[in-house]
Amino acid sequence: MVDAGSVLVVGAGIVGLSSALHLARSGYRVTVVERGEAGRGASWGNAGWICPGLVAPLTPPGAWRSAVGGLLRGSPALSVPRPTPGTGLLLTRLALQMTEARFHAAVQSTAPLVARALGAYDDLRAAGVDAPLRRAPITVGCTSEAEAEAFAAELAQLEEAGAEVSVERAEPGEAPFFSDRIRAVLAVHGQAYVDPGRFGAALRRAVLEHGVELREHTRVVSGHSGNRAVSVLTGAGEVLAADRLVVCAGAWTDGILTSILGARARVGVHSGRGYSFSAAFADGVDTARAAHALRAGPVYLPGERTVLTPYGGGVRVAGTMEFAAPDAPARRAAASRIAAAAQPYLRGVDLSSRRDEWVGPRPVTADGRPVIRRLDARVAVAAGHGMWGMALGPATGEAVAALLARS
Ligand SMILES: Cc1cc2nc3c(=O)[nH]c(=O)nc-3n(C[C@H](O)[C@H](O)[C@H](O)COP(=O)(O)OP(=O)(O)OC[C@H]3O[C@@H](n4cnc5c(N)ncnc54)[C@H](O)[C@@H]3O)c2cc1C
Repeated sequence: MVDAGSVLVVGAGIVGLSSALHLARSGYRVTVVERGEAGRGASWGNAGWICPGLVAPLTPPGAWRSAVGGLLRGSPALSVPRPTPGTGLLLTRLALQMTEARFHAAVQSTAPLVARALGAYDDLRAAGVDAPLRRAPITVGCTSEAEAEAFAAELAQLEEAGAEVSVERAEPGEAPFFSDRIRAVLAVHGQAYVDPGRFGAALRRAVLEHGVELREHTRVVSGHSGNRAVSVLTGAGEVLAADRLVVCAGAWTDGILTSILGARARVGVHSGRGYSFSAAFADGVDTARAAHALRAGPVYLPGERTVLTPYGGGVRVAGTMEFAAPDAPARRAAASRIAAAAQPYLRGVDLSSRRDEWVGPRPVTADGRPVIRRLDARVAVAAGHGMWGMALGPATGEAVAALLARS
């Protein structure tokens, strides 16, 4: 294979590892620099939904109503523990996005990645990433007809903007894991899910098998983009140089770009933290049917913005959008608040049996679009996938390889 030159990739989450794999397959000599262990950032404890039919910006038209309603009734869906001028500005920018025109523009700009979401997973598998992608519908439980209509209307907006969505009504009896509080059930077909940790480990192995050098426990603290090369300085004082640099550092991206290219290089990636935990199925013959059905695929409670994914011997539960610094300590009560809000809607699962509590920073952009572009002749960025980095990460890896090939 021709030598296409050398590339440093900063960040070994789903985006950085997918990019590294595709760059290596395109003939680049690739070094990935990761401050901790590969795949342990936001790409670790997330819900693992690979759901092209649901990829929407954070701020659909009118979302402020549910956001304000949620805040008033104390829902754990949205949290701003320490408001700052920065979070105030971000919330304002998010609110300004909630128009039909901006929603459409964001959906359309993400459409090429969404269209490749499942195909890109198939291609990673063909390239040796040995972890299952399980196809399953997503079952949505709504507390009222109005909530179901609002959810269906959101999906219709996605469809209008060009997304492929297949949604139908289901009988409550088809979803025995919902309590009587759930009044309307929808099934979104053609979706899939992964175990994110298992997938990340398989991707890491495949990246190494493709000859990528992976430098874990190596923090980038600054860098320089010059005429002849781009270099980064690590926390240990080592200088690593290459022809190109791609920053794929999730919610940490702007800090790294600033340290290399100055504050004007910021691309507006913020930290929207989410929490997850795993929970066991409840005991009891009458709940066995519910537990069996929960094993079959993911579940969404739009009223609480909480999701459940089959995981291990039970489920992984995830929720909350908390605008706080990516490395701030986890809020202790966050997981129990998610559990308390979701449990009344569920049967067959015991959310008090919480294990593996986790917090991770979604890399959120105000306009709901990932940022995949060149910043100068040598430096590019791929970040800002918000709630959908697992779904769009592999397709982003393809896009990064195509971007570098063009420039
Ligand atoms: C609770 C929750 C549930 C979610 N559920 C889903 C879902 O179901 N489906 C979906 O599609 N998405 C989901 N997401 C979103 C998804 O997890 C993220 O969009 C995605 O993981 C982002 O990947 P990334 O590679 O951009 O960032 P990360 O995985 O965060 O990777 C960035 C990496 O950069 C490294 N780094 C940072 N600073 C430095 C430095 N100075 N030097 C070197 N390395 C550095 C970090 O250590 C990290 O490993 C969820 C997120 C959360 C929090």
